[in-house]
Amino acid sequence: MIHQRRIRPEARGIGMTSQGTRDRLVQRLRDKGIEDERVLQALAATPRHQFVDEALSSRAYEDTALPIGQSQTISQPYIVALMTQALLDGGQPQKILEIGTGSGYQAAVLAQLVPKVFTVERIDELLRTARRRFHAVGLHNIFTRYADGHLGWPTQAPFDGIIVTAAAKQVPQALLDQLDEGAALVAPIEQSGGQQRLKKFTRTEEDFDEQDLGAVVFVPMLGGLI
Ligand code: SAH
Repeated sequence: MIHQRRIRPEARGIGMTSQGTRDRLVQRLRDKGIEDERVLQALAATPRHQFVDEALSSRAYEDTALPIGQSQTISQPYIVALMTQALLDGGQPQKILEIGTGSGYQAAVLAQLVPKVFTVERIDELLRTARRRFHAVGLHNIFTRYADGHLGWPTQAPFDGIIVTAAAKQVPQALLDQLDEGAALVAPIEQSGGQQRLKKFTRTEEDFDEQDLGAVVFVPMLGGLI
């Protein structure tokens, strides 16, 4: 089966939500140091205004996080680009797992870059809204699961990459276990002082390489379902 990986033209927007507005955002990301052209193109093609409440559409192309309800946020575009770039790392993964679907924006960006995106969310209402959005923009290669992301998605493992979009004190072991050899996990990790650092863990033959990608601010990774 061929899954649709391109945004439907009708979903692309006009005025404050037009291609020109998105292109200006992408230029800012380029200026801030995002270099992977595939990632920049995916952000240019993704109608972020479709992933926030209509009342916030006019702010959808500011490079900031925005509220999405349930005390959660859609990530800042620069951070989405940075994490996506780190995850692809110049290669071509086939299967990516995301923990924390939220608005669905990060998954939508990924879905244009890899054949299959698996995404897990613990808040049912957010997941339902995200699914509607994937359908509305015409992306049909995103597979969703209502579950506690600490457990990953064992029946679909191993993954060529895992992206965690909520901050934990440490990476859940189950997620590390679901990484294929050579694959990377990108996640915000809360440090002892409470600040968060974006980390990349790459699975080697017998261990993990750890890389620091800078300071970030994410909502916490929590347990249980809502
Ligand atoms: N990737 C999202 C960012 C959403 S914010 C986007 O592009 O919009 C982080 C999300 O992680 C929230 O929706 C929150 O409910 C979810 N989350 C937090 N802990 C989780 C867990 N244990 N399992 C699954 N999702 C979790």
